[in-house]
Amino acid sequence: MGSVTAATHRFVAPQAAPVNAPRLKVDKVSLRYKKPDGGTFTALEEVSFEVPDQQFAVLVGPSGCGKSSLLYLTAGLAEPTSGEIYVGGQQVEGPGADRGMVFQSYTLFPWLTVRQNVEFGLKRRGMPAAQRKDIVDYYVNEVGLSGFADNYAKQLSGGMMQRVAIARALANDPQILLMDEPFGALDSQTRLQMQQLLLRVWGNSKKTVLFVTHDIDEAILLGDRVYVMGARPGRIKRILDVPIERPRNLDMVMERSFIEMKREIFGLLHDDLEEVH
Ligand code: ADP
Ligand code: MG
Repeated sequence: MGSVTAATHRFVAPQAAPVNAPRLKVDKVSLRYKKPDGGTFTALEEVSFEVPDQQFAVLVGPSGCGKSSLLYLTAGLAEPTSGEIYVGGQQVEGPGADRGMVFQSYTLFPWLTVRQNVEFGLKRRGMPAAQRKDIVDYYVNEVGLSGFADNYAKQLSGGMMQRVAIARALANDPQILLMDEPFGALDSQTRLQMQQLLLRVWGNSKKTVLFVTHDIDEAILLGDRVYVMGARPGRIKRILDVPIERPRNLDMVMERSFIEMKREIFGLLHDDLEEVH
């Protein structure tokens, strides 16, 4: 937990205030793109689901099923053709600091240090330096980068950059964390390390998370609930609760319930491929 003693740290990791409404509500969201020939392409068709407070929700699905589109809409970076998205009961109408984002491609400012990257949003909000320092120290430590706080982002490895991106998103104390294949560009060893790190950091922060991946193991290892999507048009095919206790660890991928769930998701994704051909 972040409840370290007042003598060393004045800052205590924030817990999102409970809300009665689901933390995220996606209500009959459709997204259509105009095609060059004048027709339309339906990227998402009437997608509806809710994510309760403090839940780790994972969207899994084949390439092109609209996972990134759904995250972009939730981030307020694009608008649905029809339907609505609510975060903490408020309708999404544009980008906002209440939604923290971590994407696959590195989005740090390379010319800033780790510390400066993590405190960027806090500084912009006009938070006093002493308060900022406590928050930044806490999250830089959470992601295991205490020894690198004054390194420039451009000097870091891919895995370290994603640690900074996670620390930066959490430092802003968002209502929900949106993560789009954040470990997709990492080598497999680093990816496993980052999954373990995220399990620990999430366990401490209990933020609501909407996480996108096409890796079934990653979906089950991390998620409370897995939303299996299908393509053409992009839609939710099945919602599955992950029947594995927490705290989780990498050994659990060998458990029977893990393997059974993996088989079920694989089957759902495979059906979708056959529908296309
Ligand atoms: P995913 O992240 O699941 O791979 P995306 O959300 O990136 O899927 O894309 C969903 C579908 O929408 C894809 O078929 C993609 O080609 C299409 N698409 C995405 N962005 C645009 C765009 N700006 N214009 C037209 N089609 C797009
Ligand atoms: Mg994508």
